[in-house]
Amino acid sequence: MDQETIFLRIIRREIPAEIEYEDDEIIAIKDINPQAPVHILIIPKKHIRTLNDLSEEDIPLIGKMTLVAKQLAEQKGIADSGYRLVWNCNRDAGQTVFHIHLHLLGGRVFSWPPG
Ligand code: 5GP
Repeated sequence: MDQETIFLRIIRREIPAEIEYEDDEIIAIKDINPQAPVHILIIPKKHIRTLNDLSEEDIPLIGKMTLVAKQLAEQKGIADSGYRLVWNCNRDAGQTVFHIHLHLLGGRVFSWPPG
């Protein structure tokens, strides 16, 4: 059985979120605790716990999520200045919500390598 996550509750509209994009497979919401002027989470409606749980059938979905991120970056005016896309997987990367999501971060300068 699917493990309940905060993102499933947002997808079902049980808790509110600021929605930036939605289609039948994907929802994109503003992060509640933004780490940059633009911080949007691109989330598949299918519950996939971590990147380790991806399978070949998810390839189109992951590609579409990346395209949505690109489009949102254009809409937010950060496509040319630059942005960062982040996937956190499990404890050492700091994953806190076990429903995969792509972070779109921009509107400031990021350091590299990351801390
Ligand atoms: P992770 O650390 O798992 O990669 O990222 C989870 C992200 O979800 C965090 O940046 C956190 O601020 C965000 N988040 C957690 N709970 C909520 C929520 O209820 N609403 C929204 N919009 N973002 C959330």
